[in-house]
Amino acid sequence: MAKSYDLIIVGAGMVGALSAVLLAKSSLRVALVDKHDGEHVLSVPPAYDARVSAISSQSKSLLEAANVWQNLPSGRVTSYDNIVVWDGLGAGYIDFNAGFAAMPELGDLVENIVLSQQLMTQIKHNANIDLYLGNGLESYELSESGATVDLLSGDRLVSQVLIAADGGSSSLRSENGFETVEWDYGHTAIAATIEIDQAHQNTAWQSFGEEGVLAFLPLPPVNDRHFVSIVWCVPPKDAQQLTELSDDDFCRRVHYAINKRFQVVGITRPRQAIPLRQRHAKEYIKSGIALIGDAAHTIHPLAGQGANLGFADVKALVEVLSKAHKRGEPLGQSKVLRRYQRARMLDNMAMTAGMEAFKRLFSTQQPLIVQLRNAGMKQFDRSLGIKKKIIARAAGLSSFS
Ligand SMILES: Cc1cc2nc3c(=O)[nH]c(=O)nc-3n(C[C@H](O)[C@H](O)[C@H](O)COP(=O)(O)OP(=O)(O)OC[C@H]3O[C@@H](n4cnc5c(N)ncnc54)[C@H](O)[C@@H]3O)c2cc1C
Repeated sequence: MAKSYDLIIVGAGMVGALSAVLLAKSSLRVALVDKHDGEHVLSVPPAYDARVSAISSQSKSLLEAANVWQNLPSGRVTSYDNIVVWDGLGAGYIDFNAGFAAMPELGDLVENIVLSQQLMTQIKHNANIDLYLGNGLESYELSESGATVDLLSGDRLVSQVLIAADGGSSSLRSENGFETVEWDYGHTAIAATIEIDQAHQNTAWQSFGEEGVLAFLPLPPVNDRHFVSIVWCVPPKDAQQLTELSDDDFCRRVHYAINKRFQVVGITRPRQAIPLRQRHAKEYIKSGIALIGDAAHTIHPLAGQGANLGFADVKALVEVLSKAHKRGEPLGQSKVLRRYQRARMLDNMAMTAGMEAFKRLFSTQQPLIVQLRNAGMKQFDRSLGIKKKIIARAAGLSSFS
C-alpha cells in the first residue's frame, strides 16, 4: 500500500529539513527522505564543529518561525556586529558595521550540526512529517499530477510534488535533465576551528591576499579562551599542501595569512577540505519537481550566503505551495511551481554573479589592478550609502529582483 503525502522532500540537510518543518506548519503532509541515518545529528558535540554558517536576519526569522532558533543551545551562537575586510597586498580596507544600517547586529554564526540537530528535533515532534532516514530512491515517476516514489526500503510513497533538496551533486537534478551553468572556482575551502590569543570582538575578519581568502568567524569564548572558525579558500594544490602540514606549521601559516593580526594558539578541530564549484540550474522546476538550496545553486562561500539563499528558496516555496494548497491547485503543476522559480531565480543569479566578480577581482596579483583595487576599497569604505545597501542585502532585508 502506498503512503500518501502532499510533498516528498529528498534531502534532510539544513535546507530540506527547514522546508519540511515550515511546510508541515502550513498543514501539508510531508515525507522527508535522506540517504544518511541522521545518527550524527542526534546530539550536539561538546567541541565546536569545523563547519559553521553565517545566518542572516531573514534566515533567523525563518528559523524562529520553525521554533528552531529559540531552542538552540546557549553558548553555541555568536552574534557579530562588524565585518572587516582587507587586501593583504595593499592598504585597502573596508569596515562593515551594523550601526551603519541601524541594525543591532549583522548576523549570527552557528555550527551547521547545531542547527541540523535542532531541525531534526522539530521534525521528530511534528505529526505532519514522516522521516525516512538511511533511505534512498529505488525508482520514481513524475508528472503534473504528482510523484510516485519507491524507496530502497521497499516503501512506496505518493505525493503531489517532489522537492529535490539533495545538495550540490543532486542526482534528482541530473536524472531529470535540468541543465546547469557551472564552472570550477579553482578554490578549495579548508574549514577548521582554531584557538586565538585575543578576543575576536564579535567581528568577522577576512583577508584577501597572496595566501588566498581567509575568514576568521567568531565563536563563543570558553573560560576566557577565544575561538574562531576559519574558512580558508586556496587553489587546490595549496589546499593539498595545507592539509598535510603538522598542526603547528598550519597554525603558523594561518597567522601569516591573517597578516599577523592574531596569534594562533592551536587547532581544536580537524581540517576539512571542500572543493568549490559554482553551479546554477537554468530552471528550478519541471512538472512534479522543484529544486531548492544547493541542488539549485551553489556559490563561493566568501560572503557566507549559500545556506541563506537556500533558506530564502524555502520561504518562497512555502508561500507558493501553501497558497496553492488553500486554493485547491495541484502542487506539482508547472503553473504553480513556476511562481516559486519566478520568486527566486533572479535574486540567486544576482548573488552568484556578484560572488564571481568579487572572487575574480581579488584573484589577480597584477600590480596595476592591485593598486586600483586598493584605491577602490578605500573609496568604498567612505561610501556609507553603498555599504548600507550591501548590509541590507546580505541580511536578506532587500533583494536584487
Ligand atoms: C566552507 C563553506 C562555508 C560556508 N559558509 C556558509 C555561511 O557562512 N553561510 C551560508 O549561508 N552558507 C554557507 N555555506 C553554504 C552552505 O553550507 C550550503 O549552501 C548549505 O549547507 C546547503 O544545504 P542543502 O541542504 O541545500 O544541501 P546539503 O547540506 O548538501 O544537504 C543535502 C542532503 O541531501 C542528502 N542526499 C543527497 N543525495 C541524496 C539521495 N540521492 N537520496 C537521499 N538523500 C540524499 C544528503 O545526505 C544531505 O543530507 C558554506 C559552504 C562551504 C563549503
